[in-house]
Amino acid sequence: MTYTAELLEQIKVVEATRPQRLGQTFPAMPLEERQELLRKFHPDYIESGMREVRIGSYKGNRMPIELADVIEGRPHIDAHFDLSDPDFETDVLIVGGGGAGASAALMAQENGAKVTLVTKLRFGDANTMMAQGGIQAADRPEDSPATHYLDVIGGGHFTNFPDLVEALVKDAPIVIAWLESLGVMFDKTPDGMMMEEHGGGTSIKRMHSARDYTGAEIMRVLRDEVRNRPNIDVIEFCPAVELVLDDRGAVCGAILMNFETERYFYARAKVVVLATGGSGRLHYQGFPTTNHYGATGDGLVLAYRVGAELAFLDTMQYHPTGAAFPEQILGQLVTEKVRGLGAQPVNVKGEQFVYPLEPRDVEAAAFIRECKERNLGVVTPSGQPAVWLDTPMIDLIHGAGTIEKALPAMVRQFKRFNIDMVNQPILVYPTLHYQNGGVKIDANCQTTVPGLLVAGETSGGVHGRNRLMGNSLLDVCVFGRRAGMTAAQLAKERQPGKPTLAHLESWNRALDEIGVNGAVRSPILIPNYARRD
Ligand SMILES: Cc1cc2nc3c(=O)[nH]c(=O)nc-3n(C[C@H](O)[C@H](O)[C@H](O)COP(=O)(O)OP(=O)(O)OC[C@H]3O[C@@H](n4cnc5c(N)ncnc54)[C@H](O)[C@@H]3O)c2cc1C
Repeated sequence: MTYTAELLEQIKVVEATRPQRLGQTFPAMPLEERQELLRKFHPDYIESGMREVRIGSYKGNRMPIELADVIEGRPHIDAHFDLSDPDFETDVLIVGGGGAGASAALMAQENGAKVTLVTKLRFGDANTMMAQGGIQAADRPEDSPATHYLDVIGGGHFTNFPDLVEALVKDAPIVIAWLESLGVMFDKTPDGMMMEEHGGGTSIKRMHSARDYTGAEIMRVLRDEVRNRPNIDVIEFCPAVELVLDDRGAVCGAILMNFETERYFYARAKVVVLATGGSGRLHYQGFPTTNHYGATGDGLVLAYRVGAELAFLDTMQYHPTGAAFPEQILGQLVTEKVRGLGAQPVNVKGEQFVYPLEPRDVEAAAFIRECKERNLGVVTPSGQPAVWLDTPMIDLIHGAGTIEKALPAMVRQFKRFNIDMVNQPILVYPTLHYQNGGVKIDANCQTTVPGLLVAGETSGGVHGRNRLMGNSLLDVCVFGRRAGMTAAQLAKERQPGKPTLAHLESWNRALDEIGVNGAVRSPILIPNYARRD
């Protein structure tokens, strides 16, 4: 669907103010104003969208209602499931076929472990594959891990776990070199230097990218590498539905489900790495999402049932710029790089109303305020609120052809609907993008449960209450690699005891006590989009 006549009229207002806006930058917000804005408009602060979880180690803590319902779900199997004859045995079982899982698999293999990677969909069907903008690393002389550290902590509102941030920024240059050595083709200048850009909340240009399909490029290379190494088996369409403990309370494998036959089976392992990604497909507060179909929070459910501690699950990231029009791509990501390159957010009167590169939560809250309180948003034909993102500014600032070169995938995406983002602004609104919190880990990815490691978006702590752009692809590689190395080491030391699912009995009892009726069976594995009428 192309722009309607009414929207084309409104575009003229944006065009009229463009020359005057070109030379202007809207000032960044002072700290107190940011806090006030977040409190009033960010979905994390909307009390009606949250509730306390009623059982387990996170009891009494708030999280989105949709997540709490899944966390308090009934298991797929019961405690009497036969564990006497595992279908296979491995040293390290990696659950999840995205960037964190693949990185973990490579490093565990390199450190001598026999590895099996199981994944719910195809290997690479993952948020990693969809990442567009880039990956941060302080690898230039004028930058330093210390400056990167300050940016990460500031972006996370000073709530991040410091040891995790230290690991993130110190390993970052190593990760970029590692990815390059495996074959990732980052954007470079003609003289071979890395091209690096700004992202929201960064004080210096350190965003490495491969055009606007950085995640696909990284995933392509990691997946090929996994497939080409000995001692790594990959099993697709086999989600984990439960973790198995041994008689000493350590994790010793998982129950997997064959998606095709719906048969459950036991995979025995010395160590399990959970790398199942985020939970955008739970559509908190009805928001659309940028996430892939398998992002249903499975890792949180699995880890929580065996007693792992959680952190920051009351905070989700709503990316300020999800596509708001046309409806066919509602919620899909318009990368922050677009604002990084100079596109300004503009209201219905053609006015800039916020600094374009505020931290994501602040920027998203400002968009919601513009539409809901100030009533200065645009309303699309389907009633979706939106603001303009003035993309033609990019070529005016950097020269003709810049958009096509830097954002080819996005230009194509809008062109399919006869929208020419090189010459026309696009409509955007916040979309559910990222799970800031997750399972608590230490800097070696160990959880509070022996034998269970977590890496990537399923983990919590490194980004505190807000993640900055480009730090998640980094997190996935840094902690994926660390999880692989730790897992290989632990596998050498551990000899699991007798497997048991007794913890499911106490879990079910706790659910009975709070009156959960079993309507939700979790992990839910795939979102239910069936019509309910
Ligand atoms: C559209 C988009 C753009 C983004 N852009 C950027 C960016 O530019 N820079 C940046 O730093 N970050 C970006 N991010 C965030 C970043 O891509 C993700 O946070 C990160 O890639 C997550 O990696 P992961 O390995 O933890 O999870 P994923 O890559 O999502 O992988 C999780 C894997 O686990 C599997 N799985 C799930 N449940 C189960 C189960 N029960 N059993 C077995 N397997 C299971 C999934 O199928 C999937 O294979 C973006 C995210 C999206 C959605």
